[in-house]
Amino acid sequence: MDGVSEQARDRDSSFAKALFTGRLQEEMVFPYPRPERAELRRVEQLITDGREFLDTYYDPQRVEEQRWVGDDIIKGLGERGLLGLYISPEYGGQGLSQTGYCRVMEEFGGYDSSLSVVMGVHQSIGCKPIHLFGSAEQQARYLPDLAAGRKLAGFALTEPGAGSDAYHITTRAERQSDGSWLLNGEKRWIGNGGRDVLCVFARSEQGHVALIVEGGFDGVDAAERHDTLGLRGNDLRRVRFRDVRVPAENLLGEPGDGFRIAMHTLNNGRMSLGTGVVGGAKRLVEQAIVHTTEREQFGRPLADFELVEDKVGWMVSYLYGLESMSYLTTGLVDSGVEDYSVESAMAKVAATEYMWYAVNRVFQLAGGEAYMGGSPLAKTLRDTRVFPIFEGANDVLSAFIALSGLKAVSEEVSDLQHLSLSDPLRSLGTIADYVVGRLARGVRPDRLEAAHPTLRRQAGQVADQVGQLRDTAEKLLRLYGDDVQARQRQQKRIAAAASDIYAQVATISRTTALFADQGVEASGQERYIATSFCNRAAARVGAQFDRVDDNDDPDVHSIARLAYNRRGYSPRLF
Ligand SMILES: Cc1cc2nc3c(=O)[nH]c(=O)nc-3n(C[C@H](O)[C@H](O)[C@H](O)COP(=O)(O)OP(=O)(O)OC[C@H]3O[C@@H](n4cnc5c(N)ncnc54)[C@H](O)[C@@H]3O)c2cc1C
Repeated sequence: MDGVSEQARDRDSSFAKALFTGRLQEEMVFPYPRPERAELRRVEQLITDGREFLDTYYDPQRVEEQRWVGDDIIKGLGERGLLGLYISPEYGGQGLSQTGYCRVMEEFGGYDSSLSVVMGVHQSIGCKPIHLFGSAEQQARYLPDLAAGRKLAGFALTEPGAGSDAYHITTRAERQSDGSWLLNGEKRWIGNGGRDVLCVFARSEQGHVALIVEGGFDGVDAAERHDTLGLRGNDLRRVRFRDVRVPAENLLGEPGDGFRIAMHTLNNGRMSLGTGVVGGAKRLVEQAIVHTTEREQFGRPLADFELVEDKVGWMVSYLYGLESMSYLTTGLVDSGVEDYSVESAMAKVAATEYMWYAVNRVFQLAGGEAYMGGSPLAKTLRDTRVFPIFEGANDVLSAFIALSGLKAVSEEVSDLQHLSLSDPLRSLGTIADYVVGRLARGVRPDRLEAAHPTLRRQAGQVADQVGQLRDTAEKLLRLYGDDVQARQRQQKRIAAAASDIYAQVATISRTTALFADQGVEASGQERYIATSFCNRAAARVGAQFDRVDDNDDPDVHSIARLAYNRRGYSPRLF
């Protein structure tokens, strides 16, 4: 086996996939990426303008009641450049990098979830297909109005019969003799679905297609609005298409590109959900501190109790890891890395799971007050519960992370392709080849040499974990063969381990950059936060690997099957 074949080098264009193959592509993640100074200034200005405007005109309570953020707000955001953040200045946008865009979205995530989701639907997934895949003519036709907020965009993929399994949508587009498309079908839960421009995904004789559909086209019906638990300012619609004629020039890409366009858009769009969570969580930490330092019980502020400290300490250190991971991912995109699908999925899953736990803990700290009508924490709880569900359900993304990594390993270990994988004994000869392969790979750096000496222990841990990840991935492939695709419990473990490894790398890289800038002593707080995050993440990784070998999966399988058969909980108490 050639440890560093052409195929492997191609794959190394993905930092996270390479982790599964045992490679730590240090040069991709050190030094920690940061935008140009001029862009940072621009971002700060946009944030300040947005804040001033919203502090004056945005009323979350009114938004809840009206169930819409308000046309005046959209207009004001558009006038301040906040609805065309990454769109090229040629079309009236701000031309921000992915990092710049996500940094602004972080701010809005901390302001109000409804608002940030409306902005995210418009930019992260609504305009994005036109920005990434539109022809120059399509971009010139649509982007100026969208960047200025004169029009709002949406992304229409989900259908009643196709949620996570988006490949199997049934909306049909039939090509007509003049090149136009006749669109029929139904989408549901579409943000901005009743507005101006929708990127609609459909199937056709020629494969999946992505079409730009205007709300005013004959046959588009978006009259029905969905009621929702939270994010009540996000206008969510059922959209029906009855013999809608879509002009030929509104096809994005080529016929057959539709599914790829949808998935690429979601991969990209997920990043701003992750950084929006970073903004929301910063706010939660502040709320927890205000409450626990002011409220006294047993003659002391709540903040003085160890179990309260634990919650705040955990929130801060995990948030640091999450922030490091989210902006390392946007930095990878800005550096021109083409395949960031696994990293963006990792950041989305980590961020949205964290948010749910963090809200739950802050809610707990607030006590009964949080449960009373009109409490802001109750709104946060309602608003954020959907995060692990939309933009890719977290369990589905975990499987995606694991299978992407396993595929990278199976391609690299050439013998795994023509062995009978279900027969581990036959793999002995190959294991010998594999050892040679590993030695050949030894020339590549497999440690984080660039990590600051203060973080040597954490960097060493990461290197060991990457080796274990590679061995575990190969073990699973040898053990299960193709059936590994059905082994979701095992997939979830290595996905979680890989994700925590990636988060540690990001944290070490970021903290190294900080030490270089400010010195270790001046960055004392960050040092403790970073080492605590890394040490806890390393322990989680170890626990996941242990569970790969030592688990009760067969029992869980039997218990669930029995419960399905008996249609519920059946053990008798007496
Ligand atoms: C508030 C909100 C806004 C939305 N906005 C939009 C939008 O603007 N545009 C748009 O196109 N869509 C939108 N959606 C749809 C959203 O993307 C889907 O809800 C999501 O894709 C999941 O699909 P589903 O809800 O049908 O769940 P299902 O696919 O039915 O899945 C339900 C659950 O089953 C489990 N599951 C599913 N598949 C697997 C699997 N393979 N392995 C293991 N477990 C699995 C997971 O736990 C999952 O959470 C929105 C949804 C909501 C709630």
